[in-house]
Amino acid sequence: GPAGLGSEIVDIVNRLQDVFNAVGTSTASIDLPQICVLGSQSSGKSSVLENIVGRDFLPRGTAADIGKDGDAAANADEWGEFLHLPGQKFYDFHKIRDEIVRDTEAKTGRNAGISPQPINLRIYSPKVLTLTLVDLPGLTKVPVGDQPKDIEKQIRDMLMKYISKPACIILAVSPANVDLANSDGLKMARDVDPEGNRTIGVLTKIDLMDSGTDVVDILAGRIIPLRMGYVPVVNRGQRDIDSSKAKAQYCGTPFLTRKLNMILMHHIRATLPDIKARISSQLQKFTAELTQLGGPMADHQSGNFRTVIDGNTNDLSLNELSGGARISFVFH
Ligand code: GDP
Repeated sequence: GPAGLGSEIVDIVNRLQDVFNAVGTSTASIDLPQICVLGSQSSGKSSVLENIVGRDFLPRGTAADIGKDGDAAANADEWGEFLHLPGQKFYDFHKIRDEIVRDTEAKTGRNAGISPQPINLRIYSPKVLTLTLVDLPGLTKVPVGDQPKDIEKQIRDMLMKYISKPACIILAVSPANVDLANSDGLKMARDVDPEGNRTIGVLTKIDLMDSGTDVVDILAGRIIPLRMGYVPVVNRGQRDIDSSKAKAQYCGTPFLTRKLNMILMHHIRATLPDIKARISSQLQKFTAELTQLGGPMADHQSGNFRTVIDGNTNDLSLNELSGGARISFVFH
């Protein structure tokens, strides 16, 4: 898990992000690290994410998945929270799935198709860094009816908004049993990260590859090179096969989780000086404005906490916040 100094830094950045989100306008000027998950339909995004979290909570297109129930019981330290329902903690992961379905129907109309307006869900768990999911309602449904003509462009624009930020680390999910050149996730990632400096390739469905084929050339970077490399995974249903392999922990979800944590922490450490400089200048600006308005009123900053960034103490006013680094999960 994200133990040690790293998790502290991650926690600080997460709190900062929440503050900036609450403030609104200043968010744009402070680019905090995020991880986005990209991949075409059925590439295995949901499976990858559910394996990382260790829970089933995403609605699936297939009827076979509905009512499937292999979940552990509710835990007091594991919950989900939706951006559109602030403060409401979902400890029952099936209720999370129900809420995603409900909100999807509300946003798209029962059969209207797809909405580019994302559902934003954050998962808190002691097992993994806090994840923020950005789901596009109805994307897994077959496009029908009165769906806007430019829906594909709208969705692409929305995804681009997330992945074009230089601070965004892209998790490009591609099924290993399909030609890598056809991977929608990788194609889109290359548009914003042509050098492959902030894209991690996740290869799913290793178990479904034709016999006689392997991922050696992909892993060696001979097909589409990525500086951060590729992680092969075998998703649910294939866990027994996975665990019976000698080096399973180096090529599966646990390795992916550790790699993500590490990359995120390096990224956050590298970004902190810049973030701090921007916070200081904004703080100065707002303090000057406040002074012009006649100074602060009575002190009701009950939610204050102190953070130490680069050895300097900063006071920040916060409401109840918690969590680790966030990972944006973008369906495509
Ligand atoms: P998404 O649409 O990208 O979120 O894809 P899903 O995670 O829903 O996966 C689509 C289908 O592929 C599901 O039926 C999964 O069970 C299956 N699947 C995903 N990953 C793997 C894998 O590694 N191996 C096998 N055999 N099936 C997989």
